[in-house]
Amino acid sequence: MKISKLIVTPVATHDQPLLNSTGVHESYRVRTIVQIETTGGYTGAGETSSDHTVDIEANRSWIEGYDPRQMTKARLLWKGTPEAWAAVETAMLDAAAKQAGMPVCDYIGGRARDRVEWAAYLFYKFADENGQGEIATGAALDPEGFVRQAEEFVEKYGFKALKIKGGYFDPDTDIETFRLLRKRFPKQDGYEIRIDPNAVWSIETSIRVVKEIEQYEPQYLEDPTDSIADHAELKKHTDIPTASNMCVSAFAHVKPNAQLEGIDVILGDHHHWGGILAYKETGVLCRVMGWGLSGHSNNSLGVSQAAMLHACAATPELIYPADSHYPWTDEDGDIIKGGKLQFKDGFMAVPDAPGLGVEIDEDALAERHEALLSGGPASNRKEMILDMDPSASPRYGEWDMPNFPLYSKPRW
Ligand code: MG
Repeated sequence: MKISKLIVTPVATHDQPLLNSTGVHESYRVRTIVQIETTGGYTGAGETSSDHTVDIEANRSWIEGYDPRQMTKARLLWKGTPEAWAAVETAMLDAAAKQAGMPVCDYIGGRARDRVEWAAYLFYKFADENGQGEIATGAALDPEGFVRQAEEFVEKYGFKALKIKGGYFDPDTDIETFRLLRKRFPKQDGYEIRIDPNAVWSIETSIRVVKEIEQYEPQYLEDPTDSIADHAELKKHTDIPTASNMCVSAFAHVKPNAQLEGIDVILGDHHHWGGILAYKETGVLCRVMGWGLSGHSNNSLGVSQAAMLHACAATPELIYPADSHYPWTDEDGDIIKGGKLQFKDGFMAVPDAPGLGVEIDEDALAERHEALLSGGPASNRKEMILDMDPSASPRYGEWDMPNFPLYSKPRW
């Protein structure tokens, strides 16, 4: 079995105007789709964040002609970022598992579960300009609006874990959102709530916020502040677990976290850590170190969602519902055949088909590639930010006011 063809296609699909600590999501999200064909007629697909074409093309000479079942050596041959490798590895595992006649999670050693639980990934947001989106297309610019969005997610997908993406508004707004959300979704009804302001709070602010929200029983505090050492300081003041996909987001961060003990829960991500097999290895590290494992997500389309589904299914150490950005993908915005993958009662079932269980829709892929080539400027939502915050400063100079303005850090 050899790889006979490698196709790399960057694509753009619509994204809703979601707010985080750095500004508002652009109207297009960019992803890179990798497809391979093998001798014997098998195909494989992979996906990663942003445009990684250059990195992947730099490896083309060894990928073409390579046996995709030989994963150990492939990981040594790879030269480039973990994010780009994640797409190539996913495509190789997809094709190899198809040849073996097994779902990817079974091919890589077997599953710990037949279905995976996910968390509602909730944002403050502007109303979408064109009303596009599978869910929550209206505005959510205050705590009441945030709770209405949560109600939509819980009703439609059945999620029991709710994640507050905070950090754009002041901490008191986030505290009030937490209070209202907990009132609406009580712990005794099985709801868990986590909060992630993307490290824009100082240690002092983090301590103040955690003292305010401890009464609402947070599941964990995700990147309230900015470093492993700062989280270690915060942990002196609370028993609520700390979590991170920012200061512990690569194998190089494991040793400092072991030394400083700042982060209790790792949000693994096969894109950031370098593949589905790396996600499983993150699980082993968590088991050894006594840390919890959750899952990070950003802007995924169907191939990344399927890859994360198999990674989570094959990793017994996963003990928290993983984040999924996938509900924010438009119903007609994906690049897989047969419509989007579906959540039921907060879970997603592992497909029975060999491989990932998803196939690329070539027409949709071509359309999204064209959208990338003809897409609008990256900063096309800056007016939304300026309406909200007229004092927002340009990040790159007066000539450029992007939708991610220059905010100081810690901001609060
Ligand atoms: Mg995060």
